[in-house]
Amino acid sequence: MLRTIAGFDRIGEENAFAVLARATALAAEGKDIINLGIGQPDFKTPGHIVEAAIKALKDGHHGYTPANGLLAAREAVARRTLTTTGVEVSPENIMIVPGGKVTMFAAILIFGEPGAEILYPDPGFPIYRSMIEFTGAKPIPVPIREENGFAFSAEETLALITPQTRLLILNSPANPTGGVTPKSEVEKLVKGLEAHPHVAIMSDEIYDVMTYDGEEHCSLLTFPEIRDRLIILNGWSKTWAMTGWRMGWSIWPNQLYDKVRKLAVNCWSCVNAPSQFAGIAAIDGPQDDVIKMCKAFDNRRKVVVDGLNSLPGISCATPKGAFYAFPNVKETGWAAKQLATALLDEAGVALIGGPDFGILGEGYIRLSYANSEENILRAIERMGKFLTK
Ligand code: PLP
Repeated sequence: MLRTIAGFDRIGEENAFAVLARATALAAEGKDIINLGIGQPDFKTPGHIVEAAIKALKDGHHGYTPANGLLAAREAVARRTLTTTGVEVSPENIMIVPGGKVTMFAAILIFGEPGAEILYPDPGFPIYRSMIEFTGAKPIPVPIREENGFAFSAEETLALITPQTRLLILNSPANPTGGVTPKSEVEKLVKGLEAHPHVAIMSDEIYDVMTYDGEEHCSLLTFPEIRDRLIILNGWSKTWAMTGWRMGWSIWPNQLYDKVRKLAVNCWSCVNAPSQFAGIAAIDGPQDDVIKMCKAFDNRRKVVVDGLNSLPGISCATPKGAFYAFPNVKETGWAAKQLATALLDEAGVALIGGPDFGILGEGYIRLSYANSEENILRAIERMGKFLTK
């Protein structure tokens, strides 16, 4: 019997990948499956971005790049950050990493150990909790409530901070709820954090361009008072439909930067060069496709919310960001995970049960509306038939 570390008895997974595998297997058996399970845009990466990667390969960019990323890529991220937040960030504080997830992996590894407490949103992206548990730190869920528009509450968050708290994870616009935390609440939180200078903050802003109904994303970066302990997680996956390229970036305070750079040297060495050239083209090139994609998500959002609200036992709050709907299914009488499984097996609709995103996800299911309007309508029809059976 091999003896491995206890962390691997605690590490979790992302059930969206398991649902994707099951949906793909069912489709391979000839079943007609509509996949509203996986959180990735159904669009292709815009052509000029793909061309930039091909050109980089043809130009001979085949070798290692610096562990923190090509300077040109970090400069591009600094330009993009200035445009979207109005904040100037030095390329010396930017890391190019292989995907958005890598930033949370690094941040949680840097702060997590037995005796430490890490606050994370529940329901929230499942890897936060998984990685916290892996390190042996105590995961402290911050409740994200439907009655609060799925925004985080500054008051509730601040009340959970103890002397053992090392890291606070925030996410807006949010997965799985589509919640967007208003600026006033973020301001309240930042004000409260002044009393807790021992707490680092990791703000996952990977859906920053995807807000609707005039809602504005408020970046934590716009608060200079916490900059020396703030980590920003962002990346190319969602905004430019680049999930498979594995391209993310993060912004780190001076006191942590060298730690994550060394982690890169010890693990992934660097991000592949052609993807970084693609990333530069994504930021500096035309944004028409991004705008088109967000417009399409906005339209589908209305279709999915109207459709869900027409189903018996289901009520769906209107999500203000990202590309997820998180309807309340308590009145159907089903437990959320069982409902998700039954909908896949019996109705051919792949979606995720809320408990896969945390204890407070019970009573909800997550639908990704990164799929065509036609498929969304077909899925709603199938769900309706299933629920009235
Ligand atoms: N953060 C959130 C909130 C996400 O929803 C996701 C992906 O679904 C990620 C981070 C990870 O992104 P990436 O695919 O770039 O690793």
